[in-house]
Amino acid sequence: ILKTRRDTVRAFVKCCTLIYIFGDMLNSVGAAGKVFEYLDREPQVSSEGTLAPDHLKGHVRFCDLTFSYLSHSNKTVLQDFSLELKPGQMAALVGPSGEGKSTCVSLLERFYEPQKGIILLDDQPLQSYEHRYLHRKIAVVSQQPVLFSGSIRENIAYGLTDCSLDEIQEAARNANAHDFIINLEKGYDTEVGEGGGQLSKSERQRIAIARALVRQPQILILDEITSSLDSESETKVQQALACNPNQTLLVIAHRLKTIENAHQIVVIGDGKVQECGTHQELMHKKGSYYKLREKLFTEANTP
Ligand code: ADP
Ligand code: MG
Repeated sequence: ILKTRRDTVRAFVKCCTLIYIFGDMLNSVGAAGKVFEYLDREPQVSSEGTLAPDHLKGHVRFCDLTFSYLSHSNKTVLQDFSLELKPGQMAALVGPSGEGKSTCVSLLERFYEPQKGIILLDDQPLQSYEHRYLHRKIAVVSQQPVLFSGSIRENIAYGLTDCSLDEIQEAARNANAHDFIINLEKGYDTEVGEGGGQLSKSERQRIAIARALVRQPQILILDEITSSLDSESETKVQQALACNPNQTLLVIAHRLKTIENAHQIVVIGDGKVQECGTHQELMHKKGSYYKLREKLFTEANTP
């Protein structure tokens, strides 16, 4: 009987030990699970977003932005600045030099982060989108376009691997570049030279516009491009661009004649939106847009 009892106790102790070890194992598994759970967590604040939707409307909202460059932190460039770019519409941003127009573009490209406020793209914070995606969807043509040594065709298709000659030519037509290109001896295979040195300033500018267009960006920004275009090119390019209902267009213009047909004209001054409306509305109001026009007209006609 004693032996049986001892065996029973031994069996009971073994059983308890096993349960204890099993419990320990379960605890360990639980803890390991927690570690994996921790490792798998999505970061709450992400410097590189992950959004890359197939369809983008191109609705941009600058909401109460305050921004100063860190190197000049005593100068506030934008103060509680708000602006809406509606999908498929053309907006024009105008105002004296140094008022922060190009800064708005840099913020939209995420070269800088505002100290206050947020930029929304299709109702999502800009930083929640993949960086590469943003740069595919937003194209900026600046006043001083950069061309590299290579042919015109390579310069337009720059970075795109699946770009047909038809698409390149279509973009060049809309940029009012096709005619001058086909009149060159080697057409689209013409070498542009270092920095595009073989071409005139206006031709370089039109190639840069074609480069932006061939990407079919959802949002196209032209930052004072017209200063290097003759007025005929300028008119043709603006007309071609303004009638694309699938593209949000932001034109930053010095010559106000070119933006009269914009859906909205936004006048920037003292880091804020001073006025906003159509050309007719703003002319009727006789406010800062009206005064800016008068000032530029006087400057243009002063010898
Ligand atoms: P706009 O395009 O309206 O002429 P900018 O946005 O280029 O004006 O400039 C707005 C202000 O910010 C100006 O005072 C300019 O000197 C300053 N600024 C522009 N870029 C920089 C920069 N990278 N670093 C420091 N200050 C800058
Ligand atoms: Mg500028």
